[in-house]
Parts: sequence; structure tokens; C-alpha cells
Amino acid sequence: MKKQLEILIQMQKLDTVIGKKNILTKELPQQLNSLKQSLKDADETVEASKNELDENQKDQKLKELDITDNNTKSAKYKNQLLTIETNKEYKALNSEINHLEKKNSEIDDELMGLMEAEAELKERLEEERKAQKKASDELKANEKKLEKEIQEVNKDIEKLKSKRNVMAKNLPRELIRRYGALIKNKNRKAVVFNDNNACSGCGYTIRPQVVIDIKEGDSVIYCESCGRILVAHL
Ligand SMILES: [Zn+2]
Repeated sequence: MKKQLEILIQMQKLDTVIGKKNILTKELPQQLNSLKQSLKDADETVEASKNELDENQKDQKLKELDITDNNTKSAKYKNQLLTIETNKEYKALNSEINHLEKKNSEIDDELMGLMEAEAELKERLEEERKAQKKASDELKANEKKLEKEIQEVNKDIEKLKSKRNVMAKNLPRELIRRYGALIKNKNRKAVVFNDNNACSGCGYTIRPQVVIDIKEGDSVIYCESCGRILVAHL
């Protein structure tokens, strides 16, 4: 029986390490995904600003064309003024010229606004490109390393499991089944110890006679509350 308890203790030690490594199998891919996501976000931000800048510059070109058009028209009308005969026609043409000049001054204001926005966009884009490069460098520096760590931790878990399973072969089938169920359902703690006359798994007070039984180690003792296997110490 002492031999069985010793095997259970060793199995628990392996399962505790497996438990820690299981956490890593979740955390490491999360770290990797978060680095990939950061780069993706940075790419998208840069792309959006580039599009905004494109739009702005296209808008500026259109407005410049409008101004040129208006200037051409205005020049043509001014030429016509020289040959006009009636006062009424003169007034109409003059008003058209004024209208075009007013329009151009408005477009010019809009153009100035666009140019200011363009300068701000370019500054922002520069910052965003820096962030993009940083995200890309960080992924490059860690991707291979994390992938390797993920592979290794999975390999380690396989090794530990097979070591544990080899040990389990020396136990009765019912005890293996019970141990396995405890590992699965009791937070990976199947074997716990007497912690000042309380179960270290659930804190339940161990009766004095059971304390003695645990110390003697002649049988497998289960916690009366949580059902875990109680040993004198781990
Ligand atoms: Zn307990």
C-alpha cells in the first residue's frame, strides 16, 4: 500500500506540472495571436489613413481644376466686356464675373482647409507607420520563438503524460479510474496532504483517527468532504 501511495504522489507531481504546462498551451498561442492582431490593426490604420490622404489629394486636384475653369470663363467674359454694347448686357456679364470670382474665393478657402488637413494626415500617417513598423518588428522577433515554445510545451506534456501512464500501470484499475476522475474534476488535484489536520484540497477538518490512518499509510484514504486522496505530505 505504501508503494501505491508513493506512486500516486509521483503521479500527482507530474500532473501538477502538466497542469502548469496546459495553461501555457493556451497562453502562448494567445500571445502570438495578440502580436499578429496588433500588426493587423496597425496595417488597417495605415491603410485607412492612406485612403483618406488619397481622397484629400484627389479633392484638391478637382478644386484646382474648378478654379482654373472658373478663371478661364472669367477671362473670356472680361474679353467680352470690351465688345459689349448695352448697359444691361454689361451688368449681366459683370455680375457673372463677380459670381465666378466669389466662387473661386470660396473654393480657395476649401482648398486651404484641405491642405491643412493633408499636412495633419501626413503627420498622423508617419506616426502610424512607426507604430506599424514596431508591431511588425515585435512579431518578427517573437513569432518563431513562440511557435517553438508552443511545440516544446506540447512535447513536454506528451512526455509527462506517458511517464505518468507508465506509473499508473502499477496501480489497480479502480484506483487509476478514481485518480483520473479527481484530476479531471477537482482542479487537477487528486492527491492532497494533511495540512494541520485539514485537507489541503478543500480545507475540511480531518478526524483524529483519520489523521492517524493517513500517517500509517496502510490504506488509501479519501477526504470525507471532497473525495481526494489524502497523504501525510506531498
Ligand atoms: Zn478535501
